[in-house]
Amino acid sequence: MSLTRTALVTGASRGIGRAIAHRLASSGFSICINYFENRAGAEALLSTITDSGSDAFLAMADVSDQASVQGMFSEIRKKWGRLDVLVNNAGIYQRSPFESLDFPSWKRTLSSNLDSAFLCTAEALPLMKEQHFGRVINISSQLAFKGSRHGAHYAASKSGMIGLTRSLAIELGQFGITVNMVAPGSIRTRILGGYTEEQLSELSSQIPSRRIGEPEDVASVVAFLASDEASYVNGATVSVSGGSFLL
Ligand code: NAP
Repeated sequence: MSLTRTALVTGASRGIGRAIAHRLASSGFSICINYFENRAGAEALLSTITDSGSDAFLAMADVSDQASVQGMFSEIRKKWGRLDVLVNNAGIYQRSPFESLDFPSWKRTLSSNLDSAFLCTAEALPLMKEQHFGRVINISSQLAFKGSRHGAHYAASKSGMIGLTRSLAIELGQFGITVNMVAPGSIRTRILGGYTEEQLSELSSQIPSRRIGEPEDVASVVAFLASDEASYVNGATVSVSGGSFLL
């Protein structure tokens, strides 16, 4: 990679986003580390990246809020004047039987998981068009395809990403922009924090690869989709689920 490319990773303070930011920094990208509430986690990642000689900065923003996203992008325009890769990773996973799911909870999940991708992509687009280069990578879920008991709001938000990804791939390909989606299965992060060791081992036994995924399993796929080697991959979904997507 001759020029230093830049990447915004939303929700990079922990979990999958953290691993993606770390991996892209190791691949030579300058990173904008977006976080919302976990400033300590974001600062720890910033130190890890800068200590290893790579470039990064922090951007606090609620990606479900338009003004907050616009503020983050004005910081990006000021610092870099460009954006090569946008990873729409930030998301929440709250479980509730449909009968007790109230409208505010539904809207919170849809806005955190889907509106956020719309808002960030809309801000990134003018920069990417001007460069005639861009990579948008949406972190969805296998539940987008399978549905989720007590997670209708979550599955709906992640299914929405399928339509967004495919439509934008068609619309933006002519501008040198690719739009792809990664659909993780069960990945060891705070989202699985409520599971006991016994439940995790039961879960592993049901996965064809017989293990829970690690955030780095997702990060390496994102790094490929962000690389020059992936220039003809557009509108794709990559399942990172140890095969559980098939069951
Ligand atoms: P996590 O450990 O709970 O991390 C979620 C991240 O999203 C945090 O950095 C959090 O920031 C950020 N975030 C949430 N709401 C935000 C908002 N409004 N504005 C900005 N940042 C926000 O979860 P994870 O497992 O890494 O999940 C990452 C993505 O992968 C999510 O989209 C999730 O749906 C998807 N996914 C996860 C799994 C899994 O098994 N873990 C499976 C399929 C898909 P703060 O902590 O700073 O507030």
